[in-house]
Amino acid sequence: MDQSERFSVDFCRHDSTVAHAWARTPAEPSAAERVDLKGRVRSLLRAQDATLLAHYYVHPDLQDLAEETGGCVADSLEMARFGHEQSSRTLVICGVRFMGETAKILNPEKRILMPDLEATCSLDLACSAQEFVPFCDAHRDRTVVVYANTSVEVKARADWVVTSAIGLDIVRELHRRGEKLLWAPDRHLGRYIERETGADMLIWQGACVVHDEFKAVELQALIASHPHAKVLVHPESPEPVIKLADVVGSTGQLIRASRESQSEEFIVATDGGIIHQMRKLSPNKRFIEAPTAGNGATCKSCAHCPWMAMNGLSALARVLETGANEIRIDPEAGAKALRGIERMLDFAASRTAPARPRGAQSYGDAYAHGMGPA
Ligand code: SF4
Repeated sequence: MDQSERFSVDFCRHDSTVAHAWARTPAEPSAAERVDLKGRVRSLLRAQDATLLAHYYVHPDLQDLAEETGGCVADSLEMARFGHEQSSRTLVICGVRFMGETAKILNPEKRILMPDLEATCSLDLACSAQEFVPFCDAHRDRTVVVYANTSVEVKARADWVVTSAIGLDIVRELHRRGEKLLWAPDRHLGRYIERETGADMLIWQGACVVHDEFKAVELQALIASHPHAKVLVHPESPEPVIKLADVVGSTGQLIRASRESQSEEFIVATDGGIIHQMRKLSPNKRFIEAPTAGNGATCKSCAHCPWMAMNGLSALARVLETGANEIRIDPEAGAKALRGIERMLDFAASRTAPARPRGAQSYGDAYAHGMGPA
């Protein structure tokens, strides 16, 4: 089975896991319940010496709580970095499983809790260690670079672990050193980085069920009806969508671009959860979700991650009260996975990575387009 066939099989398999995830989405609490739950979580965080970290794609209530309680709302790179710097005994991760596992790899002595341990990611599902390790073994001449959206065992086989915030810079550096790469698992991000850097990349064929659904033709029509809007695109999106972008970047880079741009209107091609932070930072600007409906649309086409949606207030309060849903990993695999993550964090500490506007030839050019530094 070649990689493109494998993608089709895995993608079909995801349909049932996506439906399962939506079925587990917590019911929206009433206004009174929300106040009560938020109060309980605040006092439990204090009592348990715990810090709350939330990804930009989770429910706005969880993002607000993380900020209010001295935790962080961030992309996966910043979550890893921030969590590693905390002195608290417990980290509570509102996001998906690989984020909790990354926190555990970096902090084996800490207790890592998550509202729902079944919150996974289509990229992680599409790249099992059983398939990936032999694939790497068959290409030993290549440096293995994996996206953070992978299991501990896949990370353990990698030379580098990267996030979308830093992947382009790291691959550019590896290419400069003359290394040939094996990239996994997101095919769109892999191809985008390959195009930008010219690196020799053998690319695994996974995809994100959210970003894979953005539609270029419909986006073009939306741009035509909003000619002054800047188009912000996450690089897990298909190439025709990326080509329509004014700014291509990670969640953190897109938020920064929306804040620093002089534009008053933006079309946003990533999970709609990000718009909560964009509105908080720029309350007078207008944000429009990029289209996912149109030819080829499926039940997954809603620009919201079904696994991020599994994080809810009552589950958060419950895990803090009971200590349930603790992340546990194989220590040996965790120690191996740590090498690639530490390389990334060391590399990130040595530089900044601003979002890259359309037409910019390098990150340095981003400054010239007024999008500012990371
Ligand atoms: S949005 Fe996509 S990449 Fe992010 S966790 Fe969900 S499925 Fe994975």
